[in-house]
Amino acid sequence: MNLLRAVKGMNDVLPGEMARVQRVERAFARTMELYGFGEVRTPLVEPTSLFVRAIGEATDVVEKEMYTFTHHDESLTLRPEGTAGAVRAYLEHGVPQAEPVTRWYYIGPMFRAERPQRGRYRQFWQAGAEVFGDAGPASDAEMIDLLVRFLREIGVPDARVMVNSLGDAAARERYRAALVDYLTPKTDRLSPYSQRRLTENPLRILDSKDPRDAEVLADAPSILEVLSAEDTAHFDAFRRHLDALGAPYEVAPRLVRGLDYYTRTLFEIKGATAKLGAGDTLVGGGRYDGMVADLGGPSVPAIGFAAGIERLVIASDSPETKRSLDAFVAPLGDAGIAHCLVLARDLRAAGVSTELDGRKATLKAQLRRANAVGARFALIAGDDEVARGVVQVKDLARTQQETVARADVVATLRRKLGENESAS
Ligand code: AMP
Repeated sequence: MNLLRAVKGMNDVLPGEMARVQRVERAFARTMELYGFGEVRTPLVEPTSLFVRAIGEATDVVEKEMYTFTHHDESLTLRPEGTAGAVRAYLEHGVPQAEPVTRWYYIGPMFRAERPQRGRYRQFWQAGAEVFGDAGPASDAEMIDLLVRFLREIGVPDARVMVNSLGDAAARERYRAALVDYLTPKTDRLSPYSQRRLTENPLRILDSKDPRDAEVLADAPSILEVLSAEDTAHFDAFRRHLDALGAPYEVAPRLVRGLDYYTRTLFEIKGATAKLGAGDTLVGGGRYDGMVADLGGPSVPAIGFAAGIERLVIASDSPETKRSLDAFVAPLGDAGIAHCLVLARDLRAAGVSTELDGRKATLKAQLRRANAVGARFALIAGDDEVARGVVQVKDLARTQQETVARADVVATLRRKLGENESAS
């Protein structure tokens, strides 16, 4: 019979790899708490209409990447990103009426039917955050500051922050018109994909990686030229705040990103290009001052970002960490097993991480396993030890062994582990 396989582009993470994932996720949670954010969890499944309204109909995500299904006549979608659900929850729970500023972060899986490659999957994890109620440019700059700090903490080399402003809806309309004016006479030189985009969503042409498009775009107008005075002032203040924080950045006037909801500040952070190649965008984010109102709420400004956990794990230079265990309990014979079950329970109750070998294997096989799981001590008890009320305690690093009274085992082990810790 054929073995069943995971869905293409959806990955398992086994415990050996998990240590690196946890390191990134814990550093993220720590950073967010440090900056006053609280964690939220929203469902993996939402009504399809939420994403269509929030993300925009003519986006790649909504057009071709959503996992959508019908259940009891309701169209549902596996969330392709975290912001739409966060905004829904923010409104559903009356949060804007309860507090003027809300700072949320989340970590969880997202689903997009993209072509899988290194750093691009169909189920992937994002760590993200949203700030509601602060129109700031200061909160925009703080978001970059916390991301730079987080990336430094997990050891991402060469993180590059790219910032741009998309202005408000009117500025984007002006820019769209200017871009269409510029590109229309050059339509034939664009890639077929961009030719189609020219009528549907011309801004997305700026995202194209096709060299034909890059050539045509070389002299395209910049969105920064058509911003209103207010949008320009916001962008200038944002940049001044970044300078004050000493956060390095580049202005990238062609940066537009794939989701339609952004207004004003937009940013991307790239890094570890040597490992990630073209898929080196680690973080994407920006302001979406219109979305809360668009989804039926009051007019509340907002800004957010999302970072891909798998990419961060690849990008961060975390060392391979072997799993480790304090104690490995190796029973010999039937009396030994019953005795060791209780011993293992007592060790764990005292905070000593313990694995019990229940296989009835030979001592040699059990010690091999103890070494393989990185145990510091092996505790051996057979019929003889049970009868004498003792346990053999073997220090696996030093290959020393001593006989310890059963009543003293837990305390002895805790002392030895404490000594070990202070020695290392
Ligand atoms: P986005 O939600 O498209 O703005 O993406 C934000 C970040 O999520 C990207 O910079 C990536 O790090 C990550 N990401 C987006 N799509 C994928 C994917 N298909 N596979 C893995 N990571 C992704």
